[in-house]
Amino acid sequence: MNLVIFGPPGAGKGTQSKFISKKYNLHQLSTGDLLRNEIKNKTVLGSKISSLINSGELVSDSVVSDLIMSFISNEKYKNRLIFDGYPRNLSQAKNLDNLLNKNKQKIDIVLKLSVSLETIKKRILERQSQEKREDDKELIAVKRYKNYETSISPVIDYYKNSNLLRVINGEPSISEISAEISGIIEAI
Ligand code: ADP
Repeated sequence: MNLVIFGPPGAGKGTQSKFISKKYNLHQLSTGDLLRNEIKNKTVLGSKISSLINSGELVSDSVVSDLIMSFISNEKYKNRLIFDGYPRNLSQAKNLDNLLNKNKQKIDIVLKLSVSLETIKKRILERQSQEKREDDKELIAVKRYKNYETSISPVIDYYKNSNLLRVINGEPSISEISAEISGIIEAI
């Protein structure tokens, strides 16, 4: 199965994606991690995108599309991808359907983690002390949250219309959320 997981910054997408990928032998495709790796490895792409990422802006659709395309067309990952951080806007959602379609695949389920802004702020502050992500500084994190809300709302409608969307409360403990997600995955 292929799965999409999304939620605001700090919602726990990464944590839950790691859990799901281990438990069900899927591959976590985190666009944020891939992009941060480009910066860390000082690639040409990394130098182009670092100021955007660090200031909380999105990278262009075409750059991210190229990144995910190589995974979708790779037999090794066929029907075992977790899209973590993609799509983030409606054109990315449509692009993802097209790319999967061309490779005779589809999305089987979309998980949306819902978390309040208050909780997000708390979690991002905690994460900042551990991971030192430039874009976790409070003002930038709030900007990312607002950008997320604006760009994701048509994506939510898009997946609601195709009956794929499951909304999960992202407030309880990590293990409670994992248990709810497992239940959903096992039911399909
Ligand atoms: P978060 O969800 O906490 O914001 P991510 O690790 O998913 O963190 O993303 C970090 C940054 O990487 C984003 O703010 C953006 O700059 C870039 N990015 C990740 N995914 C995408 C995407 N699908 N489209 C454009 N930019 C992206």
